[in-house]
Amino acid sequence: ANKYKLAIIGSGNWGSAIARIAGMNVQRYPELFEEQVNMYVYEEQVDGKPLTEIINKQHENVKYLPGITLPDNIVAVNDVVKAASGADLLIFVLPHQFIPGICTQLRGKVSKNARALSMIKGVEVKDSNIRIFADVIEEILGCKTMALSGANIANEVAQDKFSETTIGYREGDLESAEIFHKVFDRPTFKVGMIEDVAGVSLCGALKNVVAIGAGFCDGLEWGSNAKAAIMRIGLMEMKNFSEEFFEGVKAETFTETSAGIADLITTCFGGRNRKCAEAFVKTGKSFDVLEKELLNGQKLQGSETAREVYQFLAARGKVDDFPLFKAVYNISFEGGVAQDLASKL
Ligand code: NAD
Ligand code: 13P
Repeated sequence: ANKYKLAIIGSGNWGSAIARIAGMNVQRYPELFEEQVNMYVYEEQVDGKPLTEIINKQHENVKYLPGITLPDNIVAVNDVVKAASGADLLIFVLPHQFIPGICTQLRGKVSKNARALSMIKGVEVKDSNIRIFADVIEEILGCKTMALSGANIANEVAQDKFSETTIGYREGDLESAEIFHKVFDRPTFKVGMIEDVAGVSLCGALKNVVAIGAGFCDGLEWGSNAKAAIMRIGLMEMKNFSEEFFEGVKAETFTETSAGIADLITTCFGGRNRKCAEAFVKTGKSFDVLEKELLNGQKLQGSETAREVYQFLAARGKVDDFPLFKAVYNISFEGGVAQDLASKL
């Protein structure tokens, strides 16, 4: 039988961590997968050299995941169409703002029989319409797309510290989920599966907005009770939002999976969104400035998602049903006073 050829579209902090896992696992199942895995790298110069060349010589993404060795079968490719060429399994792992551009380049260049998986934590908003990126990718490329999301701080996963994650698959398509399960499951990276692609995707997107609120708490030095309250309210808003605007999401995705409650917890304690939101309160600088100053090229997803979710809710006349999402937007972008966070809830 033909073997599956895998391609990873993206090579940031999470993209590189997940390439390491996939690279090791395809070698574990040589009867199932082709050994070489292309990884699309958005080209840039690092210390005067192209990043792709550094990755292919040193087997390390020195900019986005320094100190971690990538398996030799991961090959950095700076042209996304070449990277995806011939792939049966496509993993999308880019900051959400870059997906429409990348998918447009890939339109018509990917087999309709390929299967795709989105690891993107974000949503696409156009006026009063909202979509998960698995749907965006599926529509542009025409191939079946599911989602993976979980409590997965990339640097910890890259060091093989124990964590879990969740694949959300389409109705009736456990078979595709099981293929991706083989690509990612490891003794220290346990992959669960649930028939809920929208729920898994929305958890990943919306928890980033809650994490901004949690970071505000840290900046205000409000302590643990306050942060727990923000997380509780945040989880309710995540679930209510998803149930109101998407059909068929499951309550247990929010309360029982790694993509749900567990990712909310880890992001509100250890994530980049939390970190930048704390600095936002302490320094008074904007998120754009803090992203540049604190993240060395990595991208913040929560502040943009807060804006997108707010714009969507405003277009639907539903802003007041989601006081935490509204407060995070107000403080982030309208000059709202962080001290007033509690009184807004
Ligand atoms: P990142 O934050 O490290 O982002 C930087 C990446 O974007 C780099 O690879 C950079 O080359 C690329 N880039 C910059 N400009 C670009 C452009 N114009 N076009 C295309 N690419 C461009 O990326 P990441 O951490 O891999 O995040 C990808 C997705 O995974 C996000 O949605 C994120 O929320 C999610 N995620 C991240 C983590 C984590 O711990 N880092 C964990 C789970 C999920
Ligand atoms: P941050 O983007 O806030 O670092 O969150 C990473 C993440 O998604 C952990 O699961």
